[in-house]
Amino acid sequence: MSTNIVFIGLGNMGLPMAQNLVRAGHAVTGFDLLPASVQQFADGGGLVSDNQVAAIQAADIVITMLPASRHVLGAYLGDAGILAQARRGTLLIDCSTISTEAARQVGRAAEEKGMPMLDAPVSGGTAGATNGTLTFMVGGEDAALAAARPYLEIMGKAIFHAGGSGCGQTVKICNNMLLGILMIGTSEAIRLGVANGLDAKVVSDVMAKSSGRNWTLDVYNPCPGVAENVPASRGYTGGFGVDLMLKDLGLAMESAEASGASVPLGALARTLYDMHSKAGSGGLDFSSIYRLQDTLA
Ligand code: NAD
Repeated sequence: MSTNIVFIGLGNMGLPMAQNLVRAGHAVTGFDLLPASVQQFADGGGLVSDNQVAAIQAADIVITMLPASRHVLGAYLGDAGILAQARRGTLLIDCSTISTEAARQVGRAAEEKGMPMLDAPVSGGTAGATNGTLTFMVGGEDAALAAARPYLEIMGKAIFHAGGSGCGQTVKICNNMLLGILMIGTSEAIRLGVANGLDAKVVSDVMAKSSGRNWTLDVYNPCPGVAENVPASRGYTGGFGVDLMLKDLGLAMESAEASGASVPLGALARTLYDMHSKAGSGGLDFSSIYRLQDTLA
């Protein structure tokens, strides 16, 4: 049975996620501030509309995939927000990575309106979004997750219920702090090998079969030319932006401060991505941290 879905935020992640819902036979109406992204969605068989209010009013499910907390708060709250427009009972799923606090704020407001809401941030990168193999980290009620599961299963392959509202964001922030640290560590290790006259591919292949193995070596090598179809091999375009990683490391620092957790490596990673962003690399994929030394030199 075809479900009426509104998908807001057709960026690097949202576009392929929405396209997978279209391919599964659902009526998906896509919205983005960038006309080119909306056009790309329409070209792939997605529905587009000039009337976002009417589309939201008619929706069974609204999914958002936006950059940061302020975009999500702006999209859901206020007189022109999703919560003011959707019907009671509409299932709301926010897949953006935002602060736990912002997710809880929107979740509470949705509950007051009688709309079940999940925070369901993802991991797996643009390849995972394209292939429908994302990992979802979900916060919210059991019943809302049961209703969302068939749609999440189209976009992903692993779905974890982390706890109540906001818990999906908390675990996502932990994961991305680790990812930020791993990308820097992997870059440093490859560069150390190269500085000693080794081939970057040899160093990478050996580490990928040794105790230094991690996700960045497996599917997201940061050194240009080592792996095919990764941002490093196309000028660090597409993928997951430096400024988005910087945002997530900022969320990790806020979370650590609020809970009293000690995260010295996370703090150092944040400083390094901040330097990289300020040197003009904010729009590049986060694996471009491999070039931080060159950028600073
Ligand atoms: P992106 O910047 O490529 O896409 C975000 C899109 O949202 C843009 O196209 C922008 O125009 C649109 N947008 C902003 N405000 C809007 C509004 N009010 N209405 C409609 N559209 C609006 O970002 P992305 O890489 O797709 O990431 C989206 C979220 O997913 C972020 O929170 C990011 O941290 C998270 N994430 C990204 C990746 C990745 O690999 N790129 C992986 C996991 C999680």
